[in-house]
Amino acid sequence: MAVEQVIIVGSGPAAYTAALYASRANLKPLVIEGEADQSKRTDLPGGQLMITTDVENYPGFPEGVEGPKLMELMRRQAERFGTRVETAWVDAVDFKKRPFTVRAGDRSWTSRAVIITTGAGAKWLGIPSEKALLNKGLSGCATCDGALPLFRNKHLAVVGGGDTAMEEATFLTRFASKVSVVHRRDTLRASKIMQEKAKKNPKIEFVWNSEVAEVLDMKAGRVTGLRLRDVKSKKESTLDVGGVFIAIGHEPNTAPFRGQIDLDDRGYVKVTRGSYTSVEGVFAGGDCVDHVYRQAVTAAGMGCMAAIDAERWLESQA
Ligand code: NAP
Repeated sequence: MAVEQVIIVGSGPAAYTAALYASRANLKPLVIEGEADQSKRTDLPGGQLMITTDVENYPGFPEGVEGPKLMELMRRQAERFGTRVETAWVDAVDFKKRPFTVRAGDRSWTSRAVIITTGAGAKWLGIPSEKALLNKGLSGCATCDGALPLFRNKHLAVVGGGDTAMEEATFLTRFASKVSVVHRRDTLRASKIMQEKAKKNPKIEFVWNSEVAEVLDMKAGRVTGLRLRDVKSKKESTLDVGGVFIAIGHEPNTAPFRGQIDLDDRGYVKVTRGSYTSVEGVFAGGDCVDHVYRQAVTAAGMGCMAAIDAERWLESQA
């Protein structure tokens, strides 16, 4: 089997920007995008933008663009310059010898360089009503969706007690009439400064020791409230809200690379000098590296960096 110049694993903005640059550098990149699996939602080809409605903060789209449309455009642009795309779920790699091997079940490919752009996914509660009401008043990203008319002037809920939940709740007060932070304990995990900011905000209230038993109302097909369960007394109550944001953390999609390249203690790929990983010839960018900015535009920028680094590294090996 022919050895590829560069394989790009992933299918979000980082992947397709890396592919665009690599194909324009005549490297004929092969993108291996994840298989569509509705049950995982955030692991759809196209990444997290596939579960975003309107993207209003990607430069160049003054009227906004739908997340799936933006991904289709990025893919077409990369394909125009010779990017090839295979759909397969990469589950193992061998970076210990060159050329590198990338595996998906019983399929495998070899490549001189690899770019990892597998992204991250919002963690979900894992209850059926959450899945049923996604994009119908339930979202995993306030920055992406909070400003939509659907959420304006409504009482909203944010689930979680970390920095993301505080940040999302604070952000949402710009649009919402009130924001209830629903947390499963009576102390927050968030940093002091973020806690204080949220606690000082008159539009934010806290609902302690509560877990979400069900997002209402599946029959109506839109969010009308939450059925909450007190974790101590197990008593149930209803919180009427017009929208809910799940903010219980993110996880990088890096399981296939564990033991092959250095990851930090939360599983994010460690990079130095731009996009260099701990294995020479393997580069990484986007949300699988970055847990701070996590934007489509920053992921795209990091994909561009990874492609330029890969191109220069390949040239230096020639
Ligand atoms: P996180 O710190 O892991 O917090 C997740 C929160 O969700 C915790 O309060 C946790 O509850 C709760 N949670 C987890 N699983 C749950 C479940 N199944 N049901 C209900 N609640 C659940 O995640 P994060 O807030 O996304 O932050 C991730 C990292 O990014 C942190 O290092 C954070 O500092 C950083 N960050 C920084 C900023 C900033 O500085 N601007 C903004 C966002 C994130 P427990 O507390 O009970 O475990």
